[in-house]
Amino acid sequence: MATWDDRTGGRLEVIAGPMFAGKTEELVRRVHRAQVARRGVLVVAHELDTRSGPGRVASHSGLEVASRSVESAARIPALVGDDTELVAVDEAQFFGVDLVPVVTGLADAGLVVVVAGLSVTFDGRAFAPLPELMALAEQVTKLTAVCAVCGRDAAFHVRLDAAPADVDDALAPTSGHVGGSESYEARCRQHRAG
Ligand code: ADP
Ligand code: MG
Repeated sequence: MATWDDRTGGRLEVIAGPMFAGKTEELVRRVHRAQVARRGVLVVAHELDTRSGPGRVASHSGLEVASRSVESAARIPALVGDDTELVAVDEAQFFGVDLVPVVTGLADAGLVVVVAGLSVTFDGRAFAPLPELMALAEQVTKLTAVCAVCGRDAAFHVRLDAAPADVDDALAPTSGHVGGSESYEARCRQHRAG
């Protein structure tokens, strides 16, 4: 793991995986470490991410950190202050492909940018913009959850109440996150299909 001392320039760090993999926990852990080191930190969430409540990013296990919510990736640079050294973005898939030039631009400008998001849809497809961000990052942390059926490492998650129309929609940026009635489970490859 790189330390601040060898972060002489900007860099992009990506935290990817299915739901329940601990992506937000890992993002919050890195933010807390930066705060202990008295680095200027900006945490960004998407306005559509209503799960954590406004003004904070929270993990399933209750770890949380204060955040700013924006409606689109284009709004992020204006939140970066003179003292900002680390920008953390959670639920990257909400922002779609527009996030790619924004976060790479911030890294090019010398900031450490940590982006967490779903790399896979609930029907097992690669989920933009995570694949592109993973390709362009200095460091990628790919996390797995625990399969709800067998306890093995789970690189996928399923939506238990998915209707055919939902599957058509699985690649939409907001898929799997907005609304309350859906239920999801982490699944290994073997148990992904039932
Ligand atoms: P993510 O952001 O990847 O969705 P979070 O960081 O919000 O994940 O939450 C991770 C936490 O979720 C774990 O530490 C654990 O407490 C809890 N959890 C619930 N279900 C599972 C599961 N199936 N596999 C792993 N962790 C789970
Ligand atoms: Mg999360």
